[in-house]
Amino acid sequence: MIIAIDGTTASGKGTLARKVAERYGLKRLDTGAIYRGVALALLDAGVDPADAALAARAAARLDLESIDEERIRSGPVGTAASIVSAIPAVRAALLESQRRFAAHPQGAVLDGRDIGTVVCPHADVKLFVTADLAVRAERRWKELSGRGESVNLAQVEAEIAARDKRDTERPIAPLRPALDAHLLDTTSLSIEAAAAAACRIIDAVIDP
Ligand code: C5P
Repeated sequence: MIIAIDGTTASGKGTLARKVAERYGLKRLDTGAIYRGVALALLDAGVDPADAALAARAAARLDLESIDEERIRSGPVGTAASIVSAIPAVRAALLESQRRFAAHPQGAVLDGRDIGTVVCPHADVKLFVTADLAVRAERRWKELSGRGESVNLAQVEAEIAARDKRDTERPIAPLRPALDAHLLDTTSLSIEAAAAAACRIIDAVIDP
């Protein structure tokens, strides 16, 4: 069974994907971490993340096993990830490894922006997760502050809005719900309530 979980920045889709994977005993791939890994490699090399040729080379060389899970979570890496992810050659270089992961005999949970539309258009269940901008900004602000980053809420909200715009308006694999995606708005849901809602949707699809 392949479960595709797409959604907006800080919508809670990552936490949901982890919980859903645990619940159904599936492996999970956080595809945002892959784009963040490419972005971090470019930033560490002192290179402009918008440089298409260098970004494509970094994507082709990326070793999924050696992505620095801690450093990729910073605000600047997230912003750079959204810039590199709009480069077609970067997306092309990363597509096959995502599909290979999804082809695991037991299936998998993948979360990102284009899983239900491009990476796994035949996924068994597709969820599209979102929440109001102000709520997402507060969640991300708490996460970044908790990591010791000094950020203010208004700045985080502006960066998320800019990221939404870039992810939604890019010509390649734009962020949008697949036609057959189930929408899940987590604005007023706790993590537990959102996970329970996701599992209800999945159960209804796989065992109607
Ligand atoms: O989900 P996360 O915030 O970690 O993703 C970082 C960035 O990577 C997103 O803003 C988006 O631009 C990009 N991304 C993407 N396609 C995916 C996953 C992430 O374009 N499947």
